[in-house]
Amino acid sequence: MKAPRLEIKLKQLQHNAKELLENLALQGISITGVSKATMAMPEIINIWVNAGIHSIGESRIENIESLNKVNNRVRTLLTRIPMLSQVDQVVSHASISCNSELTVLTALAAAAAKQNLRHGVLLMVELGDLREGILPEDLNEVIKQVLILPNLELIGIGANLGCQNGVAPDQKNMNELSSIMNNIEADFKIKMEWCSGGNSANLPWLAAGGKPDRLNHLRIGEALLLGREPLTRTKIKGLYTDAITLVAEVIETKLKPTTPWGMQYQTSFSDAPSEQNKESNAKQNKIYESRILFAIGEQDIDPSGLKADGIEIKGASSDYLVVSSSPNTLNVGYEQRFSLNYSALLRAMTSPYIAKCFVS
Ligand SMILES: *Cc1c(COP(=O)(O)O)cnc(C)c1O
Repeated sequence: MKAPRLEIKLKQLQHNAKELLENLALQGISITGVSKATMAMPEIINIWVNAGIHSIGESRIENIESLNKVNNRVRTLLTRIPMLSQVDQVVSHASISCNSELTVLTALAAAAAKQNLRHGVLLMVELGDLREGILPEDLNEVIKQVLILPNLELIGIGANLGCQNGVAPDQKNMNELSSIMNNIEADFKIKMEWCSGGNSANLPWLAAGGKPDRLNHLRIGEALLLGREPLTRTKIKGLYTDAITLVAEVIETKLKPTTPWGMQYQTSFSDAPSEQNKESNAKQNKIYESRILFAIGEQDIDPSGLKADGIEIKGASSDYLVVSSSPNTLNVGYEQRFSLNYSALLRAMTSPYIAKCFVS
């Protein structure tokens, strides 16, 4: 088989989807499967849809466009707020988009009217993580306008925590979202479909007995793909964490001194070492360790997101991953398997140099 490659176990992904769907349904919560780390891989989306996932989230409109070509029935959610320059594409390909800017909403409405389409809107509320979202005190003014704009349908409100500053969803901020939902429905005499509490970072709070109240929707990616929650990277009970793994091939294996020698400066991927380190590295030392090179690099993965038993990641440049292994049994040509975190997975999935294989 070709190396490097991602090995994907569809059965395990299906298990993760069924398990999460069932557990969250018990709390009255439905999920949008967020496939953005896979570039809307059709095989994975099929598995999710067959497991009962009702809608698919993608951050790039291009991926929703390609998804529509293989499955034009599933509802799609653009998870990144749209660019003003892309509103035509957004309304023609996505069923719903996340939004926080009235200028963009006005342009979406005009684009939808022009194309004679209805476009769903999930209004994002800022609850403290400081990424996308309207501050709660500014929300009513935006809703007022959205309800007047033609060809838009207000699907609901949503929040996103955990992605920018690692702020955890908890009873306090989720209660705030629920009461915002209640207030909007009362003030404007409307009903909204989704009170969308967040992403995989909401799962620990729910598992610890969190009360969803109005919350009835989550947008889940990492937990479905990697079986972990993003706040502490803890394995979620009952889910597979190895449904997707990376295989890379050894291209050099030697014993070398543990520290570099010669004057050191910065590299393309790291800062210059401290003065102290420079001095201690002036001479070649006599302590040797295994140094193994893999044919994979920063272009394909996030090296800090790879893990394998007995292997210490030393670093990477564009095309080489450097590790130490003890005991060193990694000969040239050996295929090593690594587990990936979300950041490594995202880059591997989007690298054209990494083959994607389905295994059982
Ligand atoms: C990426 C993203 C998600 C999915 O996050 P996971 O941590 O992978 O579950 C949900 N909502 C928004 C707005 C996102 O950008």
